[in-house]
Order: sequence, then C-alpha cells, then structure tokens
Amino acid sequence: MDNITTLSPPIPGEICSINDAVLWCRMPLPLALDHINVYLVRDNGGWAIIDCGMATKATKAAWADVIAQLDGPITRVLVTHMHPDHIGCAGYLTELYQVDLYMSQTEYYAARALFAGNQGTDNWQDKQYYRRAGFNEEQVQLFTQGNGGFKKVVSPMPISFNRLIPGTSLLIGDYEWALLLGCGHSPEHISFYCKALDICIGGDQVLPQITPNIGAYSTQPNSNPLFYYFETLQTFANLPQTTLLLPSHKTPIYDIPARVEEIHTHHHIHLQNLLAACEQPQTVVSLLPVLFHRELGQHELFFAVAECIAHLNYLVYNEQLEKQLDENDVFQYRINRLI
Ligand SMILES: [Zn+2]
Repeated sequence: MDNITTLSPPIPGEICSINDAVLWCRMPLPLALDHINVYLVRDNGGWAIIDCGMATKATKAAWADVIAQLDGPITRVLVTHMHPDHIGCAGYLTELYQVDLYMSQTEYYAARALFAGNQGTDNWQDKQYYRRAGFNEEQVQLFTQGNGGFKKVVSPMPISFNRLIPGTSLLIGDYEWALLLGCGHSPEHISFYCKALDICIGGDQVLPQITPNIGAYSTQPNSNPLFYYFETLQTFANLPQTTLLLPSHKTPIYDIPARVEEIHTHHHIHLQNLLAACEQPQTVVSLLPVLFHRELGQHELFFAVAECIAHLNYLVYNEQLEKQLDENDVFQYRINRLI
C-alpha cells in the first residue's frame, strides 16, 4: 500500500483500488471544492457504499458508471455525516437498490429536519444572528433569503435507518470497523477505522491540505463546536502513524497524528490572532479579516461567519474574551482583563 499517496485521484465514474476490500471513487461537486471522495467496502455478497456525493445529475451518472463495474450488488449505504456532499445521493441510492441506510442518530435526524425546512416559522433568529455579527440590513437580507438549499442537492431521505453508535464497531464483509466519533464539524460525525487493514475512512473530521469547517451557525449561535472538535480530535491523534487516511476531500495521506497536530496549530494561531485583535472592542464583521486574508464570496462568507463565531465562542467559554451587546444590538468582543 506504499504508493497510495502518489496515485492520481480517480475521475468521476472511475474506480481506484486501495486494496481487495476498499475502493476509492470521486464524485463531482458544483463548488470551489470540486470533488468528494467516496469509498466502497467489500461486504457479504457485494459492496457497501461510504458517502454518496450531492444529488446532481452528474453524480447519479458517475454512480451508474461505478456500479456497472463492480463484481457484486450494493449491499448498504453508510454516511459519515449529514452535509449535502456526503448525504445527497443516500436516499437516491437506498431507494434505487432497496438497501438500508446506516448513520449516527443525530446526523440522521438533523438531515430529516433540514430536509423538512422551517415549515412556515419566521426566521427572525436567523436575521438576529447576522445583525448581531455587525452586518447591515442589505447583507442580512442576502444571508437570510435562502429557500431550501439543502433540498436542492439532497434526495428525499429514507424513512428508516440503522444507527451507527460511536465507540462500537461494525462488521463489513470480513473486517471490523471501529466507529469513531467526531464533533464540531457536524454534530455526530462517524469515521471508520479498520485496525486489520490499517485504514481510516475519515469523512471530514481530519482532512489533508484543508481544515474542516468548524462553525457556530444560527441554529445554535451560542454553541462551542471548536471545543468539541478538539476533544474528539484526540482519538485521531492516537491512531498509528502507519494508518492510511482516506479522506472525503483531497488525496489519501499517512501519519494522521501529524496532520492532527497541524490542524491544532492552525486553530490555535487563529485563536491567538483573535485575542490580539480584541484589545479594543470588535465585531464579528471587523474580525473576519483576522481569520480570512482574501475577499470572500457570499457562499464562502456564510461559512466564514460561522467559523469566526465558533472561535470567538471558544474564547468566551474560556473566559479569555468578553462579549457584550452594544446600543445597536451588535455583539462587541473584547479581551477579558480580569484574568
Ligand atoms: Zn462536512
């Protein structure tokens, strides 16, 4: 398996064999990040799918090409977490092949809820989240006019699922896979680790070259996802250096602990820079350039705001920053001089 990291990635519809039990495929994404890696694991009587790609025509066509080349049928569909690039085609595939879906409980119900949408309830909390971050009314409108983006790239969810319980393991074909919990990027993300194969199918929890988005979104503006991300990242720091990481984006790497260390450092630099910038009171909007050094498009800004608030919430929970609403109902963040 020594040369896996030098393999060129498969194009959509192609299969790259990692070993006899694990296959690597790619699905296209209509985003700046233009692909997602998906994996097939040899199961009893066929192949289990891990992660699905967005429900687009291009992805469905790529799946048809891939499945036509397999030496057996699809046995089940496993999903690491509910983000559209991972879960998009899950319902499409389980419906088409009449197979079971496997997910963690929180991710399954979160996906069902996002698919159902706000069901007529007002979005004042969504607007308040952006106003309090310091955006003007025009920008608040841009952020909050979205209507069911999730549904556009996600197939209807199956009404039944099998629960993946973190800390337990799952037998797929001849191999046992430990189900590793990841929080912070999404609520109950599952990575799959097989000791016998020395492989970790990591999902988005640990990525090479890019860091997974850790965001405090308007659904839960006071959450502390960075804390829980660090906490669950520890499991990955303890994996053997020989373990091959099969990530959801970019290309496979070895030495997961070294990558975990880099990700840690990346966030701690962000935290230090935010603290240094908050000698005088600052808003989320004024702090964005501290974390992001380039012009951001509207779509990127949505993730950037949540990422910035996640870092600020971490510092507020640590009592390193104080957060106060000013007379305009905007949060001002300032270094806590009491400690
Ligand atoms: Zn994700």
